[in-house]
Amino acid sequence: MANIDWKDEVEKRKDELIRDLQGLLRIKSVLNESKSTVDAPLGMEVKQALEYMLEMGKRDGFTSKNVGNLAGHLEMGAGDGLIAALCHVDVVPEGDGWSVDPFGGEVQDGKIFARGAIDDKGPTMAAYYGMKIVNELGLSINKRIRLIIGTDEESRWRCVDHYFKYEEMPEMGFAPDADFPIINAEKGIADFDLKQKRNSPKEHGAKITLISFFSGRRYNMVPDHARAVLDIQWDQTEFLQLFNDFKYRQGLNGSYYVESGYLVLELKGISAHGMEPDNGKNAGLHLAHFLSTVKLDRKGMDFVNAAVHFFFEDSRGRAFGVQHTDEMMGDLTINVGKMTFNDEDGGRFGLNMRYPASFSMEEGMQKIMKEAEKSNFEVVNISNLEPHYVPSDDILIQKLIKVYEEQTNEKAEMLSISGGTYARSLKNGVAFGALFPGRPDVAHQKDEYMEIEDLLRATALYAQAFYELAQG
Ligand SMILES: [Zn+2]
Repeated sequence: MANIDWKDEVEKRKDELIRDLQGLLRIKSVLNESKSTVDAPLGMEVKQALEYMLEMGKRDGFTSKNVGNLAGHLEMGAGDGLIAALCHVDVVPEGDGWSVDPFGGEVQDGKIFARGAIDDKGPTMAAYYGMKIVNELGLSINKRIRLIIGTDEESRWRCVDHYFKYEEMPEMGFAPDADFPIINAEKGIADFDLKQKRNSPKEHGAKITLISFFSGRRYNMVPDHARAVLDIQWDQTEFLQLFNDFKYRQGLNGSYYVESGYLVLELKGISAHGMEPDNGKNAGLHLAHFLSTVKLDRKGMDFVNAAVHFFFEDSRGRAFGVQHTDEMMGDLTINVGKMTFNDEDGGRFGLNMRYPASFSMEEGMQKIMKEAEKSNFEVVNISNLEPHYVPSDDILIQKLIKVYEEQTNEKAEMLSISGGTYARSLKNGVAFGALFPGRPDVAHQKDEYMEIEDLLRATALYAQAFYELAQG
């Protein structure tokens, strides 16, 4: 095997690498469907970023292919085997509060700043230069190396869906779109709704009737706000005293007012990502909990009782009997991201369940359905992403460990996560960088940047990774 100083090879190309990256960062490749055309389904700028990469590849002697203006690839080498890096050049909107031009690619204090610097244009350019170095050194490899470029990672992954419908699935690969060292385990993610079944007959003469309830807009977030509208034929002063006592005991903020003759209660909670509901305070569940302590009409009562029975202070699915832990991936979690109730549709819970690889989704759903049934709810609207897992003795991981440990002199720990990375779209793929351990994650934040030092270190890692993976 050749004895190559990968870091030195990167250093020689440093200025060129930064210049090429700046060109890419200056394209405002935010999804723009209002400007969608047949040739540019995600908008002109997104397409421009894809073309920028493909043109650069042609300049440097790679074969290039545009796949439906949604994705594309650059390729080198020959042979039946194919290894790949999966990257993306779309970015989320820049947002407010930047102290530099979000599409300037300015270098300051050893950092390169722009929307997309770390997610994922910097890492994309690092992977590209990794491939370029293997190519320019004329190293002997016996598999093809491919850089796959997606353009819809930040929203609906239409890029990879389209790409893999028509193009070859690599035998193995990595996605430089998360963290170093290596993420080899990602939980399964299922979204579904529990829907209150038949309309219980309207109860006349109830002292308190739940007219409507609303909390949360996204399955994968803990809602920080809830609102209930009540028809109260009772002593309001006494009722509001109960509400105030409840808020005080729970340490929550909330308010009430009268609107069109109804009493409206609002409660504030604490938002968090749905992958760990216990990091937040679910405003909807707390408000339902309060309402379960007063005597509501029958239908409203069934709704708030179900909320409390199934979910209150239980993010692990115990009430359904689906609590599950595995050593590698941790606990199954259920987040109640949405709660709605009105007279016409009854109640509904929008759930985001994340489960480890050893959990049987099929059996679990059966249990959930059975328990839901007992409370007169049904499961509807299921969408499911299977867990993604590559065993650590797999040759892909063994080679990436070797590369990482040789170059960084640090142990390549395997990471397991509850979120999902782009590596999921590869059959045999893991997330490999480009955020180094200990670095703050500034993806999607104002003043997003990548340390130049990290850009160069990642490039050296990717160069050697391509080289090792493309051996026999
Ligand atoms: Zn990304």
